[in-house]
Amino acid sequence: VLPDKTEPFYHRDLEIHAASPSQMKPKPDSLDGLKFGHTFSDHMFEVNWDAAKGWTRPIISPLHDFHIHPGAKVLHYAIELFEGMKAYRGVDNKIRLFRPDQNMARMRRTAARSSLPDFDANELTDIIADLVKLDKEWVPYSNTASLYLRPTMISTDPTLGVGDPSQAKLFVLTGPAGAYYPTGFKPISLLADPEYVRAFPGGVGSFKMGCNYAPTILIGKVATSLGCQQALWLYDKDEKLTEVGTMNIFVFWTNEQNELELVTPPLSDGLILPGVTRDSLIQIAKSWNEFKITERYPTMDEIKRATKEKRVHQVFGAGTACIVSPVGRILYKNTTTKQYEEILIPTMDSKIDVMQRLYDTINDIQYGRIEWPGWTKI
Ligand code: PMP
Repeated sequence: VLPDKTEPFYHRDLEIHAASPSQMKPKPDSLDGLKFGHTFSDHMFEVNWDAAKGWTRPIISPLHDFHIHPGAKVLHYAIELFEGMKAYRGVDNKIRLFRPDQNMARMRRTAARSSLPDFDANELTDIIADLVKLDKEWVPYSNTASLYLRPTMISTDPTLGVGDPSQAKLFVLTGPAGAYYPTGFKPISLLADPEYVRAFPGGVGSFKMGCNYAPTILIGKVATSLGCQQALWLYDKDEKLTEVGTMNIFVFWTNEQNELELVTPPLSDGLILPGVTRDSLIQIAKSWNEFKITERYPTMDEIKRATKEKRVHQVFGAGTACIVSPVGRILYKNTTTKQYEEILIPTMDSKIDVMQRLYDTINDIQYGRIEWPGWTKI
């Protein structure tokens, strides 16, 4: 019988090779100061794909290095994608995945755009749940820390042609992530230099491919050298605000019609990564029904005018790592004058603290203090 190449891999075929006691690593003494992505749990998941044979048997085994051929396409053309999601130990000691269906759907969309193979979202979610269960002691006993999950897919076929990958590896790593704000929110400064562009229409900014991130690292360093923590990615002549570093952006202001409004860029033109946090914050804010919520691009001119007129209340980034990240200052490079202009944003001093309220609500859901139907998987 010929194998069915389109057949997904199944949770029921999962093989688990648990680490022996001597293979298990000590857990970190403290979650404070745990650097993001430096500590990994004991186990990983992997499954391989071949265009002629389909998916191999899915396996969970102790964390290990890979052997890949130096000609593997991922090493040359960055045929790669990844996801970022979290598992939280709730106040009831139950471990919850937060909206894994959203990450799986985004991963499948990115796989299609990357010419990487498709898989079944529910099957991978069930496998990830088993991986987290096996390493449950790595899920921090904390109401502020969590277990970060990194599903990844790479093209491994050892051929240099720029062409359709014929082999791939899908794997999942996990590791504890400490509290992002152990001493409370810290507002960040953003470098807004229209010379640098993260994404463009027709490009792949709305997909979670590694190739979107490599070119941003240098700009991050430029930002640091100018006393900023992140880049504010602008786009086009009218300098639309698109994203903050690796986060979606939200602006809470009183608009020109004198209405309270929460604004975030739209997903319609492929510039914006469809963040799970972004979608969650929009849904939570909508449920309050207290102010207008609009998906459109704010422009640099609008932000400058609105801050001058004291209409900007809060600007914040939104993403899985920190949930929200308050913006206190924008260092804007004016393309006409070539001068830097400082724009101060009163995010931390705003009388109406929508950011904190959104943060508290999503936290309550993630740590099981309140329930939002369909958002957590135990
Ligand atoms: N934008 C970019 C460019 C990102 O890399 C991320 C992180 N995945 C986000 C936004 C936030 O997405 P999420 O809320 O799903 O973490």
